Amino acid sequence: MTEFSLQLNEDQLQLQKWIHDFAENSMRPIAEEWDEREEFPYPFVEEAAQIGLYGWEFMAEIMMNDKTGLSTPVALEEMFWGDAGLGMSIMGTGLAAAGIAASGTSEQVMEWVPQCYGTADKIALGAFCASEPDAGSDVGGYRLRAKYDEATDEWVLNGTKAWITNGGIADIHVVVAVVEPEFKSKGHASFIIPPNTPGLSQGQKYKKHGIRASHTAEVVLDDVRVPGHCLLGGKEKLDERLARIREGKKGNSQAAMQTFEATRPAVAAQALGIARAAYEYSLDYAKERKAFGRAIIENQSIAFMLADIATEIEAARLLTWRAAQLGKAKGFKNAEGSMAKLKAGRIAVHSTERAIQILGGYGYTREYPVERWHRDAKIFDIFEGTEQIQQLVISRAISGVRIQ
Ligand SMILES: Cc1cc2nc3c(=O)[nH]c(=O)nc-3n(C[C@H](O)[C@H](O)[C@H](O)COP(=O)(O)OP(=O)(O)OC[C@H]3O[C@@H](n4cnc5c(N)ncnc54)[C@H](O)[C@@H]3O)c2cc1C
Repeated sequence: MTEFSLQLNEDQLQLQKWIHDFAENSMRPIAEEWDEREEFPYPFVEEAAQIGLYGWEFMAEIMMNDKTGLSTPVALEEMFWGDAGLGMSIMGTGLAAAGIAASGTSEQVMEWVPQCYGTADKIALGAFCASEPDAGSDVGGYRLRAKYDEATDEWVLNGTKAWITNGGIADIHVVVAVVEPEFKSKGHASFIIPPNTPGLSQGQKYKKHGIRASHTAEVVLDDVRVPGHCLLGGKEKLDERLARIREGKKGNSQAAMQTFEATRPAVAAQALGIARAAYEYSLDYAKERKAFGRAIIENQSIAFMLADIATEIEAARLLTWRAAQLGKAKGFKNAEGSMAKLKAGRIAVHSTERAIQILGGYGYTREYPVERWHRDAKIFDIFEGTEQIQQLVISRAISGVRIQ
């Protein structure tokens, strides 16, 4: 494993500047509009694809080709500093790609990940479908069922997924399904649902509190048939895994969890971007705004709030970068990914709430961006493992006890 280092290399510094400039010039000016429209910002994602910021090559560059692990958090912090709803419209497909990479063979990764993104001239979208209406945190409670039809070498999927980013509008849906109900979360497998497959439809589209430019919807699968090769990892590997569990041997952790574990430092970096946006904005405001004949920052109560937020952001970034480096080296030891996500989600919510406080009445209005950032920040305590699920993972890791 490489030593923990905070040193960004030349490529990473350029990446940081490139995305920062894009965030400032192409995201911030349109963020409010797309938040109000509450619909997927196709022209924006098309623009990102044209400059190479949306595409599988970009994801491969920051995730696979970077040996340090730091390119991903650096890139995502800048992107989400620009805007979280627009950022999620770019990154939603990444979760599908991560789901394919977590469970698929290298041939499947090569076949399907590029199809999730399409091309610069004709973008495509991917969706990762794990959560269900009755089971989000409780992955052992999933009910969407996949049954094998030996006669046709097809899998038949039935059930409903809930809160799916890009759900129903995606070209490729990666669906986590129950193949062996008695094994609970170990009896899952992931499937590719190719474009235009009959039986897959969008259910309700959710009206959300924040990240409103990102599309979130139910996905309904009604007798969806996919060829055998759409089972990620292949049937032989699945049969071996299930046989091992039947014999009472330890089975691998199931697909959804592997995906969420791996992406936690990246999600933490997204939260950090929002936290930093709110911090910078409220710091500038506090120096400008006058009350009682002086800038409000001259009051310790305001200055100390900002001092605390600056400290928390630095701490969260250290956790995030360390988790990203450990994750790259496949070395999470003490739930460092969960620690990073827990801390960064909390500081995003806290710093945006404090930013509203510092802006006073203006902060509470839609004239200023901090109320939007506050709405956007809250999702980071909820998706990809809630605050309490991160605490569960951390407490189990530090104690070795099966905390409930
Ligand atoms: C905008 C948005 C986008 C999303 N995108 C996706 C996506 O692309 N793909 C996908 O698969 N899912 C997605 N999700 C779903 C998300 O991952 C779930 O909402 C999340 O995992 C929580 O599940 P839940 O909503 O069922 O809450 P629940 O699991 O019902 O939890 C409710 C509350 O109980 C707590 N709780 C639950 N179990 C425990 C426990 N054992 N100990 C302590 N506390 C507990 C939780 O922390 C939470 O506070 C998205 C959700 C949203 C809102």
